[in-house]
Amino acid sequence: MIYTILTMVKWLSILLVALVLIIATGILLFLKFAPAFGGRPDAETLARIKASKHFNGKTFINIVPTHASTIEIENMAATDSSEDGHILWQFLFPPKGKNPSQPLVSHQLALADSDPHSSSALKEGEFIWLGHSTVLFRAEGKTLITDPVFHRASPVPLGGKPFAMTDSPRVADLPFIDVVLISHDHYDHLDHRAIKQLVQQNKAGHFYVPLGVKAHLIRWGVSADKITEFDWYEEIILSENTPTKLTPSNPALVGKSAQNKRQLTTHELRLVFTPTRHFSGRRIKGHRTTLWGSWVAQSNKLSVYFSGDGGYSAEFANIGKHYGPFDIAFVEDGAYNERWRDVHMLPEESAQAGFDLGAKVVLPIHWGKFDLSTHHWREPVLRLKQAVADGNTKVSPERQIKLATPRIGERFNLDNLPNGAWWETEKQIQMANTKLAKSSA
Ligand SMILES: [Zn+2]
Repeated sequence: MIYTILTMVKWLSILLVALVLIIATGILLFLKFAPAFGGRPDAETLARIKASKHFNGKTFINIVPTHASTIEIENMAATDSSEDGHILWQFLFPPKGKNPSQPLVSHQLALADSDPHSSSALKEGEFIWLGHSTVLFRAEGKTLITDPVFHRASPVPLGGKPFAMTDSPRVADLPFIDVVLISHDHYDHLDHRAIKQLVQQNKAGHFYVPLGVKAHLIRWGVSADKITEFDWYEEIILSENTPTKLTPSNPALVGKSAQNKRQLTTHELRLVFTPTRHFSGRRIKGHRTTLWGSWVAQSNKLSVYFSGDGGYSAEFANIGKHYGPFDIAFVEDGAYNERWRDVHMLPEESAQAGFDLGAKVVLPIHWGKFDLSTHHWREPVLRLKQAVADGNTKVSPERQIKLATPRIGERFNLDNLPNGAWWETEKQIQMANTKLAKSSA
């Protein structure tokens, strides 16, 4: 009897060890080979990275000292570890209001296969915000998209799930995109499934990406000749007949003025990769080995700024001085927290960034799609609205900012700015449901 029990214990132990080994090997193989993590830069990119003024030999560095979170600050005495536990708890079990209680009412995106000359096609000067940092617009006969994200903002089926919507935008509903602008390689900005779909559905012309990001796209099927990597303040001018032919112009300009900025002619589009105060990385290790930033897109009729991610810094005024004023600025406003304020602005700072840039219109991005911080899902837009209103009382009328707040998927142009409080509809539904639940109790 004892012998039988001992044999059973022995075999169970072997089985347990084998199981642990199999799981550990699986995790290691996943971390090493899962496509979501992207690729490693080739020799050409590595040479450019090493030559960059913003690379310190190991990682890219911000223009001003920056910590990804207070956890990084050497003086840990200032950090309350119970607060970290509280934040983690809120991610695992979001309190009421942190996520919408009902599917967000969004507009259907139905631009697939549309003839650019048809009445339903996206028209010159039209914009569509697709939630978080994805914006579709048309300028100088080209269709542009920023940070195309259409799936979960996570490499694993945990966390980063998009909010439910009545019409969730899909890659299949997009028109052909001439210009894909990527701000950095974080999961909520660079969606490997969306990139694969753009390639498979033959929907993307050319990708303009930060230095080091080309390798990720190649891993997901984009051909190398369709990708151009940028360092900060590098720019190109796309012309009518050569939509992907590059005209390198200004070298890195941090802290200097763009004296050589030339006047654009009709059908030309200038793209400039501008700095932000942020970081990068898709793996547990190796953060900041690819660059991060924001984009300026300009024609002789339209001037657009797209912020990507970043904390507040004096660089917004610098960008405004070089390339402003902007007809519209898509400015990060969401997923903030005092603890990572260096790398994600608070709404009041987002408003200030709009004033620094010389933006005529600010459209808040980085909210309305993912639950990536601890605040209520509506808080970013409410705080920004107040901060812009306060700011407008302190500046001259020509420097005042208009706020654009379209629904997800809603098409608009600068003469017809959407400014409804659509997020309140969701609040009303929620209140009605609570009332109903109480009366039936
Ligand atoms: Zn980011």
